[in-house]
Amino acid sequence: MKKFKVGILGATGMVGQKFVTLLQNHPWFEIEVLAASEKSAGKTYEEAVENRWMMDEIIPESLKGKIVLNVERDAEKIASVVDFVFCALSMPKDDLKNLEEKYAKMECPVISNNSANRMQPDVPMIIPEINADHMKIIPIQKKRLNTKKGFIATKSNCSIQCYVPALHPLFKNGIQKILVSTYQAISGAGKNFNTWPEMNDNLIPFIPGEEEKSETEPLKIWGEIKNEKIVPNNNIKITSQCLRVPISNGHTAAVFASFKNKISSEGAINLLKNFKGDAKSLGLPSSPKKFIHYFEEPSRPQIRPDINLENKMAISVGRLREDSQYDIKFICMSHNTVRGAAGGAILLAEMLCREGYIF
Ligand code: NAP
Repeated sequence: MKKFKVGILGATGMVGQKFVTLLQNHPWFEIEVLAASEKSAGKTYEEAVENRWMMDEIIPESLKGKIVLNVERDAEKIASVVDFVFCALSMPKDDLKNLEEKYAKMECPVISNNSANRMQPDVPMIIPEINADHMKIIPIQKKRLNTKKGFIATKSNCSIQCYVPALHPLFKNGIQKILVSTYQAISGAGKNFNTWPEMNDNLIPFIPGEEEKSETEPLKIWGEIKNEKIVPNNNIKITSQCLRVPISNGHTAAVFASFKNKISSEGAINLLKNFKGDAKSLGLPSSPKKFIHYFEEPSRPQIRPDINLENKMAISVGRLREDSQYDIKFICMSHNTVRGAAGGAILLAEMLCREGYIF
């Protein structure tokens, strides 16, 4: 595999910093450009993240002196020197939608963490183990954008990243309805306890926009390509509540689900334990060896012992049992800034490179 030169748009933020640390010593990708807002542009990366570096790892020596570019003003320059960009910007949705399209139209593929383009019918939203085949929409999108190389591919919101994979092995039983409550870490808001001290010993019962995404994005992931569009799976009904909890990293979900073809808890646990994921997602540099880890102990999964499993790319599930109102219920958990953000996007980019969509 050739080495791909990559740019990180939003390199100074929480997810951008995660990209920077995860891409150190990546076998296929090397960071060529770090870019952010006008506030950071022109500074060295070290100056730009001064007093707001949130990773456990130190700032990579090789990037400390790199000058941060402006994602808008330097767009042409960035697109001309990289093979593709990861986008981890926080900007108004319309501005972001236009900016990602602008990069794609400049023949620079965009692998995005943002919601701005996620629900576009010809933009794939991919969890590689589940709906790798949605890559096939990319040539259709390129026709609309009139590009040869440029396109946008997105990963889903971090809130659905644990419960959609945990339900997917049971998909053939005909999922009918899902009730889910998510308990989401503060890094999901780009914060830690230093920058958000009010979250110590606290819980906030509202995350703007999150419940809508939690209820609609899974339907696109489980959708099908028909008539040049990804058509959402509207047979499944989802209701959700999303809560912010005083946890640094790791989103947990409590899930209830009913199926057309009833399934026993033993049968469901077996399907989860044996689930491997789509063949196209396997054997990539960031693929977990085992995607879903099922725990028999009733006190698992927990954040502290389980969050780092498979380099933070695993989905942990436990307490699956039959329910009096729904067919089954269970608890699941995953790392929101790695599996749910930068790591998930890197895995997606690896798959797109190996499958020849990024070249
Ligand atoms: P963040 O820490 O607030 O970082 C935001 C980044 O966007 C910074 O690099 C910032 O640059 C840049 N930015 C802000 N306003 C800008 C503007 N007007 N023009 C250009 N650049 C601008 O946010 P985050 O938590 O990393 O999240 C980034 C994106 O990923 C969001 O869309 C979020 O929804 C999504 N996401 C986050 C998570 C998570 O777990 N945190 C998970 C999945 C998806 P400056 O530093 O120069 O201001």
